[in-house]
Amino acid sequence: MEYDKNNVFARILRKEIPANIVYENDVALAFHDVYPKAPTHILVIPKGEFIAFDDFAAQASAEEIIGFNQAVHHVIQTFSLQEKGYRLLSNQGLHGCQEVPHYHVHILGGKHLGPPLSSS
Ligand code: AMP
Repeated sequence: MEYDKNNVFARILRKEIPANIVYENDVALAFHDVYPKAPTHILVIPKGEFIAFDDFAAQASAEEIIGFNQAVHHVIQTFSLQEKGYRLLSNQGLHGCQEVPHYHVHILGGKHLGPPLSSS
C-alpha cells in the first residue's frame, strides 16, 4: 500500500488544515483529537510518511523512533496523566479500524476509561 500524501494528518503536517497542537519536536507532532473520546484525547504522529506501526517500526530511523516516544512521554507529563493512568492506543489497518492512514498513537485519559475492548 502506498502512502496517501493527501490524508488528513499529512495535510495537518503541511499546515494546510489547522490542528490544536500541544507539542512538536523534530520528528513528531501532537495535537488534540477533533472528536475526543475522553477528557484528554491527544494524537501523536511522526512527521515522516509512515502508514502504520509496521512500516514505522521497520523503516523509521532510531532518531525518529526515540523522538516519537519522547513526544508521547512529553504529552503524558504535560497533562499529568501518569498519576491516575491513561491509555495508549494505535489502530492498524482493516481489523484495527484505522481511519487515517498515517501512523498515530492516541493518548486517552482524564477519566476511568473502562475495559479496553467490547466482547462483541
Ligand atoms: P483512527 O485512524 O481510527 O485511529 O483514528 C483517527 C482519529 O483521527 C479519530 O479519533 C478522529 O477523531 C481523528 N481526526 C480525524 N480528523 C482529524 C483532524 N482534522 N484533527 C484532529 N483529529 C482528527
